[in-house]
Amino acid sequence: MDDKAKSIVKVVVIVGCLIAAVVITAKYTNFGGNPYEGERPLKCTSCSYSYVLDAEQYKELVNEKQAETISFQLPPIDCPECGEQAVVRATKCKKCGSIFALEEAGGKFEDECPECGYSEAAERFKKKK
Ligand SMILES: [Zn+2]
Ligand SMILES: [Zn+2]
Repeated sequence: MDDKAKSIVKVVVIVGCLIAAVVITAKYTNFGGNPYEGERPLKCTSCSYSYVLDAEQYKELVNEKQAETISFQLPPIDCPECGEQAVVRATKCKKCGSIFALEEAGGKFEDECPECGYSEAAERFKKKK
């Protein structure tokens, strides 16, 4: 492979990565689809305070924050309890109702409840079989 061909391959790889990044960002920032229809569980990683915003409130908050930070990433959200910018997206367990941050889920599935072990993804996985 000569140098010219190599650089073309490089460009193709970079463009491919960029497209993938945009698609992933769009998917997770939910401008279209909404995997948590209606509510947004959130959790403070600093004081463990958890709360739920409805989709509209959450969207407004994120839009406001994104305007400040000029970023498509989920911006840091201040905790209403301790004031730290340590609030992250969380999941509410469908079974026991406990709210946990995705990074707290210790199991095989990213939405596995640390309290009762219930995971919606696991249930779906079981059903598919
Ligand atoms: Zn807090
Ligand atoms: Zn649970």
